[in-house]
Amino acid sequence: MVEVNEKEKVGSISVFEQAAKLGHEQLVFCHDEPTGLKAIIGIHNTVLGPALGGTRMWNYVSEEEAAIDALRLSRGMTYKAAISGLNLGGGKAVIIGDASKLKNEAFLRRFGKFVNSLSGKYITAEDMNMTTGDMVHIGMETKHVTGLPVEMGGSGDPSPVTAYGVYMGMKAAAKKAYGSDSLQGKKVTVQGVGHVGMHLVDHLTKEGAKVFITDLNQERLKKVAEKSGATVVGMDEIYDIDADIYAPCAMGATINDDTIARLKCAIITGAANNQLKDEVRHGNMLIDKGVVYAPDFVVNAGGIINISGELSGSYNSDLAYLWTEKIYDTCTSILNKAENDGIPAQEAAMLLAEKRIEDVGRVKLSF
Ligand code: NAD
Repeated sequence: MVEVNEKEKVGSISVFEQAAKLGHEQLVFCHDEPTGLKAIIGIHNTVLGPALGGTRMWNYVSEEEAAIDALRLSRGMTYKAAISGLNLGGGKAVIIGDASKLKNEAFLRRFGKFVNSLSGKYITAEDMNMTTGDMVHIGMETKHVTGLPVEMGGSGDPSPVTAYGVYMGMKAAAKKAYGSDSLQGKKVTVQGVGHVGMHLVDHLTKEGAKVFITDLNQERLKKVAEKSGATVVGMDEIYDIDADIYAPCAMGATINDDTIARLKCAIITGAANNQLKDEVRHGNMLIDKGVVYAPDFVVNAGGIINISGELSGSYNSDLAYLWTEKIYDTCTSILNKAENDGIPAQEAAMLLAEKRIEDVGRVKLSF
């Protein structure tokens, strides 16, 4: 493990300045020459419990970009766990490189050793370009790993539960915007029909929504369209569809100056992390436009809720769905607070999460 070099720059400020700005506890740089492993583990906050968050493998254009991702994503996990009522902190790991070329057993086990060296302060899981099979290899070197296959006593792929939570959040947002949580007849655009998006499309079509889908992956797009009857639209066209609801389920920062001007929807609810390019500016722009925004880290918490069941040692799928259903109520409280206080929903959610961390943190001070 390499110590953080104080002079190493992230954007225009140092790593320590960036970590201080976002309130991080620890940033761990991991390097292993023989396997080619380069990873960064971000531990944002462990007041509520160990920092849980998946490992993402991505061909980052620079180490700075990877560090920023680790910092932003781990912070998001703190808020997600706190708002969901879980006794977990926020962490996330990023591995730099092309997953199709670098990933193998030794590479993953070396990463597992780095996770293990943190003695449970960070617990990993799968994220982009990582699979439950990869978790098995990581798990050969550390017990601080979740998202193992069901046949190994794990909770398996969290995506269906995540999709259910997004669906619950969307219904809560519909209640706020339309006075009814029915999605029947509503026009919904789903951007990205991967693990989460395809299950979300199922819930929506079952309820009678008119669904429009797009994806980079044409094969997947065709398969989901054939199965669901959803209408395929172009990747850029999705922002111009005359839809009631936009569901970003691919990448972050899709709510920005350009797209807010183009979107015609009354509601935005999706699975993607960090949807607002600028939390404050774009949160306020959505208020001005009268768009009900269900914050990403609230509605996409089904996955971590599912994993928390695995951590308890007695995973129960029904319980995970029941807990995830509560996203409807959480979302309702957040949207009401946002309206009453005249603040963006994202800010309202963050304030509620911060309050829980502060209150529970104080409780923990006494024996
Ligand atoms: P995934 O990789 O399975 O699916 C993402 C899909 O988006 C892919 O099919 C990909 O081809 C497509 N895509 C990529 N760029 C696109 C673009 N520009 N336009 C349209 N489509 C594009 O990922 P996933 O597991 O479904 O997760 C989706 C999002 O939700 C991610 O941002 C992820 O971080 C977030 N999320 C997922 C979970 C989970 O349980 N899987 C939990 C919380 C948050």
